[in-house]
Amino acid sequence: MYADKFRLDGKVAVVTGGSRGIGKAIAIGLAEQGARLALASRKQEALDGVAEEIRKTGGECLAMACHVGKPDQIKIFIDKVVETYGSVDILVNNAATNPYFGPIIDASEEAWNKTLDVNLKGPFLMTQAAARIMMQKGGGSIINVSSVGAFKANPMQGIYGVTKAGMVNMTKTFAQELALVNIRVNAICPGLTNTKFSEVLIETKEIYDFALQKIPVKRHAEPSEIVGAALFLASDAASYVTGSCITVDGGMMT
Ligand code: NAP
Repeated sequence: MYADKFRLDGKVAVVTGGSRGIGKAIAIGLAEQGARLALASRKQEALDGVAEEIRKTGGECLAMACHVGKPDQIKIFIDKVVETYGSVDILVNNAATNPYFGPIIDASEEAWNKTLDVNLKGPFLMTQAAARIMMQKGGGSIINVSSVGAFKANPMQGIYGVTKAGMVNMTKTFAQELALVNIRVNAICPGLTNTKFSEVLIETKEIYDFALQKIPVKRHAEPSEIVGAALFLASDAASYVTGSCITVDGGMMT
């Protein structure tokens, strides 16, 4: 059956930023397809709640606090995943931060460093660590959650946009270099999605109305609407897909 290609039974899937929003939705979707989950974010309690939800439906889930801007914590986390499951087959680099909202000319060096550490250096180190394990196991799938902000200027969110554009290029580079070891690397670029991250954009009427002008379907997405792209990219249904960026944006980039 062709639908079997979407199954992920027994695969080990790491999701960063898995405690809420898009990461949580993707984690639950992966578990429903049979994957064994390992979730990371900074707050253990929030992660434990998601892990409990997954276990209640018969899934397996390791939940461990890990700040993805801190290389030592990434190493401890990946070591724990391997100790627990013996493998990493799928990595979803989803965690991100956007600490500064304002003109880029006024942004502080601290905001620059924090945003680059979490949004770019973290996924870079996670990818290296996971890919080294995948190489030993014969392959894997890496999914980077970028943004439509990767493709255009991001007024008031400039540094964030720089990191998301960097992530797209990093996706393509890893995809080329890891193609022959059977590791596929792709990106998902969501548009405006209803999460804590975007709450100010959705709840501030002037910003939201301005955003809707650019979205052909005239609404924002729910986190569950981003999941399908992740399940596809994680699975054998995407066996010939690498280096791609899938926009899930209600037509915003058209
Ligand atoms: P969200 O609901 O705020 O979730 C962010 C997740 O990242 C949380 O689990 C958070 O948990 C975790 N996180 C934040 N900083 C972290 C750090 N330093 N280390 C580890 N985990 C960290 O946001 P979201 O909207 O789902 O965002 C998920 C991804 O989608 C991000 O890459 C974002 O750029 C992208 N995206 C979102 C939108 C949108 O409109 N929402 C649009 C395009 C792209 P803790 O607080 O516990 O650390």
